[in-house]
Amino acid sequence: MQPTISIVVPLYNEESVFPTLVGRLNALTTSPGVTLEFVLVDDGSRDATSSLMRDLAEKDSRYTCIFLSRNYGHQAAVSAGMANVSASEAVMIIDGDLQDPPELVNDFFSKIREGYDVVYGIRKKRKENLFKRFAYWFFYRLLRTLSEVNIPLDSGDFCMMTRKVNDVITSMPEQSRFLRGMRTWVGFRQYGFEYEREKRASGDPKYTLKALFNLAYDGIYNFSYVPMRVITRLGFFSIVVSLGYLAYVLIKRFMGYEIPSGFTALIFAIVLFSGVQLICLGIIGEYVGRIYRQVKNRPMFLIRNKISGGKEQNG
Ligand code: UDP
Ligand code: MG
Repeated sequence: MQPTISIVVPLYNEESVFPTLVGRLNALTTSPGVTLEFVLVDDGSRDATSSLMRDLAEKDSRYTCIFLSRNYGHQAAVSAGMANVSASEAVMIIDGDLQDPPELVNDFFSKIREGYDVVYGIRKKRKENLFKRFAYWFFYRLLRTLSEVNIPLDSGDFCMMTRKVNDVITSMPEQSRFLRGMRTWVGFRQYGFEYEREKRASGDPKYTLKALFNLAYDGIYNFSYVPMRVITRLGFFSIVVSLGYLAYVLIKRFMGYEIPSGFTALIFAIVLFSGVQLICLGIIGEYVGRIYRQVKNRPMFLIRNKISGGKEQNG
């Protein structure tokens, strides 16, 4: 029989939290008829994580363990898990360090059963240091301003989604993945669930600062064409400045002021042609952006449902 809910957990060098994690997962209780499957993904760990996973998978058939060939990063590890779940009704994603309480599985699932397609966690409070908190705060707001989809503030990858959403995201071929953005992008009916993000149960964060910045770049570049369009605007700005400067100089001249000859023309020409070049770059950028959109090959639209011949069909 197929499990009802698959819980995907990416793990990278998590030997110290592993026993607690498995304890918490095993202790989960669900309503009658709802069964769980756990899909653990080893993202190329170099500690005992993989051997612990192997032992567990051999003992308990509810656990599916996937071992990646090397460390690919959190987003790839989660994607690997999402691509390897059974034909369950819903898929939940949690962090291995128990910052996202797996016990919310029933609350999330009841929202799914109510008809939502995505239930994502919204962090009420972060128990991290001030710098990280500020960086996250700033990033989510920047992303919201720049992005073409309204990625909810302060939500991470912690979520549950229907099989349909899981499969759509899995089938999106983009290489640099920003899952929380893709999850928003698909649309459907989404529900934000407030929760308190715990401290890491044990061990150190596995995201390096560099990896976090890369994730932030992926978020912005995958979901925004604003950086590219800024170039063209800068170009126009530059041209306006050069013309303004020309007008200023001419007026001064007519008013009888001494104007250094040669210098003025030079400044005017430099600023004007910088502007022209920037606009040209922007034009090329616009085409590159269109190529980028095309190669990402996201579906042009997703259908939620359709009524045909008097009958409703789910997309
Ligand atoms: N993780 C992973 N691959 C990596 C880095 C992290 O699979 O290259 C996993 C990690 O084991 C954990 C989750 O991703 O289960 C979140 O990582 P972490 O707690 O370090 O991130 P943070 O909570 O600091 O955002
Ligand atoms: Mg963590």
